[in-house]
Amino acid sequence: MKLNLNYNKLEENYLFTEIAKRTAEFAKAHPEKPLIKLGIGDVTRPLAPVAADAIIKAVEELKHVETFRGYGPELGYGFAKRAVQRYYATYGIEVDTEEITIGDGIGEDIANVTDLFAHGENHVLIPDPVYPLYKATSPMDGQKITYLECNKENGFLPTPPDFAADMIYLCSPNNPTGATFSLEQMQAWVDYANRHGAIILYDNAYERFIGEDGKPHSIFAAKGARTCAIEFNSLSKTAGFTCVRSGYTFIPKELERDGMSLLRMWQQRQTTKYNGAPYMTQRGLEAALSEEGVAQADRNIDYYRRNVKLITDVLDKKGIFYSGGVNSPYIWMECPHGMKSWEFFDWLLNTAYVVGTPGVGFGACGEGYFRLTSFNTYENTAEAMERIEKLL
Ligand code: PLP
Repeated sequence: MKLNLNYNKLEENYLFTEIAKRTAEFAKAHPEKPLIKLGIGDVTRPLAPVAADAIIKAVEELKHVETFRGYGPELGYGFAKRAVQRYYATYGIEVDTEEITIGDGIGEDIANVTDLFAHGENHVLIPDPVYPLYKATSPMDGQKITYLECNKENGFLPTPPDFAADMIYLCSPNNPTGATFSLEQMQAWVDYANRHGAIILYDNAYERFIGEDGKPHSIFAAKGARTCAIEFNSLSKTAGFTCVRSGYTFIPKELERDGMSLLRMWQQRQTTKYNGAPYMTQRGLEAALSEEGVAQADRNIDYYRRNVKLITDVLDKKGIFYSGGVNSPYIWMECPHGMKSWEFFDWLLNTAYVVGTPGVGFGACGEGYFRLTSFNTYENTAEAMERIEKLL
């Protein structure tokens, strides 16, 4: 028996445990000082009523013998896939329902899709700073990794390198930096991938936060993406489904390598290793992606946007550089006075009683940066920013 020794190579991700530890110590030592968390990476607004009602109705159906259902299709119900198809159409993107699979959120799909790629034989490009998931799955599979430096100079958006690679993780609007690709920047990656036969794994978790500035809502807005990209879409941050768990993956029919269809491989993988997303969450997805569901969810996003404005107004007033916010719930600020990420964390905790996320926890290039989020209440965000404004 041989274990996957690549697990030994995984970096310990102590970011959130260390934040929790330092925060708990502070709260214990200073119970009189009211803490405000602007580090929350989870949504806080309730589900769109139309989605919640659809879930309740689906559960009700299961109570009766006439409407009871057993196992569903592993790749997703037709009604859910058609809802996704209609949603993509609102962005002018054509999708065949066969190209969609419905899952339990995209953390799972992004991790599981790695089954399709030969382990230990691929060169993977990962931006830095980055959402920690991609940094863990590639080493598990023994892939060679090159980190792409994202910094103030490139607007925290990686550009294609002058060497070939096999797989690329892209996330736009980005977590943690909030930076968002323009169509031209996206196109450059699609052209690179097609030139080198590489595959783009496109994490689209925050697309609904894109505002009116014309940034593309999908990698499939770029020409030629159908021969090089896989897109992962989550309802977690767009419709508040973090606990419900729902998402969908789009693999185009044209995506082939070595004469094999990646869609076919993914379908084989899912129908073998997965028994399908719950009926009620798929009814929730269908409702959340309806016109009414999207409008209701957008009201929550508008709520978070108001919080973003509270944060960025203070940073603007104080002349502090930041990225994100515009198309994202995340604000990626430069730590003031040249402080390092953890130094600023401690300073903010001890002087303003505000908790955020040290940028260095997302990768070496995050050193000197700090992530604030708009997921707290309006009142708490206003209070936190008032305290910070007085101190900066
Ligand atoms: N991708 C990014 C960039 C995220 O920030 C998150 C959650 O925070 C996920 C994926 C996970 O999404 P899901 O809840 O659909 O698994």
